[in-house]
Formats: sequence, C-alpha cells, structure tokens
Amino acid sequence: MSTGTQTDDSCINDLLDHSFVSSIENDNNDESEESDLDWIPESDNEEQNDIHHDINPAKERKFIVFESCLDNLFTSCCSCGFPCSMSKTVLGSYINIKSSCENCNTQRKWESQPTSNSMPLGNLIIAGAILFSGGSAHKFLTLCMHASVQMFSIGTHMKIQSLYLVPTIENVWQREQLHLFTTARESGETLRLGGDGRCCSTGHTAKYLSYTLMDLKTNKILDTQLVQKNEVRNSYAMELEGLQRGLAKIAEEELQVSHLVTDRHSQIKKYMREVHPEVVHWFDCWHIAKEARAANALENRHRPVPVAQMEQRARK
Ligand SMILES: [Zn+2]
Repeated sequence: MSTGTQTDDSCINDLLDHSFVSSIENDNNDESEESDLDWIPESDNEEQNDIHHDINPAKERKFIVFESCLDNLFTSCCSCGFPCSMSKTVLGSYINIKSSCENCNTQRKWESQPTSNSMPLGNLIIAGAILFSGGSAHKFLTLCMHASVQMFSIGTHMKIQSLYLVPTIENVWQREQLHLFTTARESGETLRLGGDGRCCSTGHTAKYLSYTLMDLKTNKILDTQLVQKNEVRNSYAMELEGLQRGLAKIAEEELQVSHLVTDRHSQIKKYMREVHPEVVHWFDCWHIAKEARAANALENRHRPVPVAQMEQRARK
C-alpha cells in the first residue's frame, strides 16, 4: 500500500506555490564558478518573486546544454558584434551569465532557470523529483558527476529536503487526510478497513514500522503511523502499536469501523477479540495463501523428488 499516488501531483504543485517556497540563498555574492556554493535559508521578509505565473515550472520542458554551446551565445556583442567579457555564477543546476561588451559597453544578464526569492526552481524541482519518485539522491548525483552535468551537492539536497520537501508532503497529506475524513463522515457509513504494517527490514531486527489503514471501499489510505522499536517492548509489538494508534486516530475523527482486515498477527487477533469485539475481524486471504505456500514448501523440502520432475527442473 502506498500514499504516493494519492499525493504526488499535489506535492509538486504545493512545492512551487511561492508562499511555501520561502527561500534558499547563496550568502556569497561574489561571482563564482564553483559547482555548488553553500546555501543558507534567507529571511521570509524578502518580497522578490521571479516565478512567471503563466507557466508551470514543473511542467515546462528542460534541456541539458553544453557549456561550449552556451558560450557561443555570449562571446560576441549582440549590438556591435565585438568580443564580450563573460562571468558565470553556478548554483547547483542553475547558471547565471553576465556579459559586457568591451566596445559599446552593452551589458547582458541571462539566467538558466526561473527563481523564487533567489532560489533556482530547477534545483527545487530536481530535489523534489528525486524524493517523490522514490529514487536515490546518491545514485542520481553520481550519475550527474559521471556525465559532468552540474548539480547541487548531497548536503544541499538534504537541506532542500528538510526545509521544503518534507514540510510540503506533510502539508499535502494533512489536507488530503482531512478531506478523506470529512467525506467518510458525511457519507454516514461505517468503515471497512484493511490494515498492515511494513518494517524497515525483515526479521526481528527492524527499527521502524509504518502501519497503514486503507478504506477498502474507496481504496484510499486513511492513516499511516510510524512506530519506533524503542517505543514498545520489541520489534514484534510494533505492529499492534501501529494499529492501535491508527484506530485511535479514526475514533478521534468520530468515525466508526465495522470491519477490519489484517494478517494473522497473534497480538492483533487477541487485541481485536478483547478490546474491539464490535468490529468484525477478517484475515486477508493473500496472507493466508502466502503462509500456506511457505508451510507447504517447508513440508516438501525433504520429500524425495521424482526423477522426471528433477529432469524437468534441470531443463529450466
Ligand atoms: Zn558592443
């Protein structure tokens, strides 16, 4: 189960909402050709906003341009054709070129990306795209390094992620969740939920578990809860804790659950039987089939295999 499809589009639109993009700025105003300057957040009072609102920067096409091709545009003056002096400032994937004619003194300034409060939007969009697509920032940045594509550093990516991306996801999710709860409440019907936990690693070594409750009528995620191992007795107890928190959230929203489908987790079986006898507790047949398959495989492990079957396996 994933919340991705419910929120991805809203996230990227919210991310580019200029009220949300406050700022990240280079504190060094000197012109520089360093690949990634150190960025710090600037104050929220800055009024400047360079987004062209008629074009959605996230949807607009972007191109990779070779530096030699870019230089061709600025080496000679557009007024008199005389050679120009050039200076470049690079901020991650953004470049700003200033050229000055040595003959007629014509000045030109060109930016490769729109900006918002001095934050290049390309950097924000790329960092968002890495996170929202579930990709690895390290792999993407290594790829850029091998292809000599100018990109921000991992430190800048983490900064953008914590300052803008994660708050945007939280904002969009809370709004979406509020809408789902309101719709469910207005329908006046009781909920049929499916719940399952997902650990950060298999076995008994997991440190985190996210527990998800899905409305089986709309196939939409109603709630997710993150549980850390040290909040409960052991990693096995995380699943029940996640379910309890999820059901508490549903109850807090004055919604009633009539049916719950889960796997055959023994603590959950006991909890539902003793604490929520009013809820019909079902077992998910996918989990039962999976467990039956595993048990069957274990049982057949030491059984002699007929020669014909062995030959068939060898051919595969
Ligand atoms: Zn000139």
